[in-house]
Amino acid sequence: MIIILFGAPGVGKGTQAKLLQERRNWFHLSTGDLLRAAIRDQTPLGKSAKTYMDKGELVPDDVVIGLVEEKIADKSAPEGFILDGFPRTQAQARALDDMLAAHGKSISSVINLIVPENMIVHRITQRRVCPSCGASYNLEANPPKNGINCDACGTVVTLREDDREETIRKRLKVYEDKTAPLISYYTMTGKLTDLDAVGEIEDIYKRLGNHVPRA
Ligand code: AMP
Repeated sequence: MIIILFGAPGVGKGTQAKLLQERRNWFHLSTGDLLRAAIRDQTPLGKSAKTYMDKGELVPDDVVIGLVEEKIADKSAPEGFILDGFPRTQAQARALDDMLAAHGKSISSVINLIVPENMIVHRITQRRVCPSCGASYNLEANPPKNGINCDACGTVVTLREDDREETIRKRLKVYEDKTAPLISYYTMTGKLTDLDAVGEIEDIYKRLGNHVPRA
């Protein structure tokens, strides 16, 4: 079973996907997390992806499609996947359909998280990440226990390079131009559900939980 958590940067896809992973046993597949891990490991893929990510641009389709294909083709991969941050373009959506069909799988549902733009910008500027292990926090909604160091590994948390306000605006524009058109693509399949993603993390999780079974 494959569920896509859809929506603009900063609507809380990653936060909710992590909760679904912990509490409902879904496998969380975030292309953003995979790319950031490649950057931390200083792989050639990571070095090339960083130049796009720091500017708020999309990494080329073939790179991200390759990352997802590897996971979906993995024989030991779990049955239930939450896709977070993928697909982001028409080409990625078509490639996803093809790769799932090739493995006898299909998309179960697409949940479109909706948050007004002014709230998105505020939320993202409050986000902090751990540069060592990648854990993500929000200074208001979900701060590290002592406000400074990562709860998991103790490293000082920082603002992501692409979470600076001018880069957020660019990412939102890229979302409108390249990713939002997929809403009509998935509406046509009858699988898309809109979800109000404003409010407390736990309240949003409850709303989302009504659409997501246990994996
Ligand atoms: P995210 O963590 O999902 O907000 O992604 C952070 C950045 O990683 C994006 O702004 C893009 O530069 C890159 N990225 C993540 N997923 C994709 C994707 N599916 N296609 C292209 N670029 C991506």
